[in-house]
Amino acid sequence: MLLGFLLLIFLIAFPALVVAVVAFTRIPGDDCALNVTTPVTQTAHAIHWDYSPEHGPEHWASLTPDYATCGSGKLQSPINLRTSVGPKYELGRTLKNISMNNFQDVSTLVKNSFSNLVTVVHNGHTVQTSGVKGYFQYDSTWFELLQFHFHTPSEHQLDDNLQQAEIHFVHKSQSNNYLVIGVFVETADENPEYFKELLADFPKSEEEAAAIVHFNYTQLLQDVVGDNANYWMYSGSFTTPNCQEGVTWIVMNKKVKMTAKDIGALRNAMGKNNRPIQPLNERTVHMKSLPI
Ligand SMILES: [Zn+2]
Repeated sequence: MLLGFLLLIFLIAFPALVVAVVAFTRIPGDDCALNVTTPVTQTAHAIHWDYSPEHGPEHWASLTPDYATCGSGKLQSPINLRTSVGPKYELGRTLKNISMNNFQDVSTLVKNSFSNLVTVVHNGHTVQTSGVKGYFQYDSTWFELLQFHFHTPSEHQLDDNLQQAEIHFVHKSQSNNYLVIGVFVETADENPEYFKELLADFPKSEEEAAAIVHFNYTQLLQDVVGDNANYWMYSGSFTTPNCQEGVTWIVMNKKVKMTAKDIGALRNAMGKNNRPIQPLNERTVHMKSLPI
């Protein structure tokens, strides 16, 4: 009787365990969505991809069937964004307001937790920061900030122009929906306070050890979001293999500032890591308000 009961428990628990392990180790979007605290599997790095002529964006789809969406997908990112309305670029009158109220920076709620210390790694594709403890509410769903990382130059374009750099804040909901907030970088004479340590200490190559730095997420949000952010919203994908679709993209109108020297330092460390823009196909890009 007891043996039968234990067998029953095992039969129920084992598939659940397998599903949990598989779900935890196979992270869609790989590095673009990868949190350094997430276990990295053999498969995640077995297929080498990069931005070179040999293994670059033109070849991603043919490197492995796992990356087929990079070639066949119809909802791919990045795209060109426009500052005026026109065909496929519409004012989204029903788009939600985004203000500081939509964000929770948990590190500021926990005193003496040292939780404003974040980890910065160079993963071979980008410079990536994790451990921010941020949450974002959009359309009544809360998304957890997994990590943010840099692209030089930008991936999205503004009126057909690449920007100096772009930061991607990769979020995931409890039901595994991804939402990425894109923020463009523009040059300035001085770095904002919240970026000073990160830009001074980030690992310059994949071989360099992770850096632990102070980072004030709330201050960055105050710069980018403020009382009522203007933004673009569209349905897209991860911009790195496996190019998984179903990603909600929100690209902010306000840019963050960084010195030309440090944008150059990021570019030296990462190389040119921007995927070319992808066709819009049947999609519409929504703008919160004009002028954007
Ligand atoms: Zn990215």
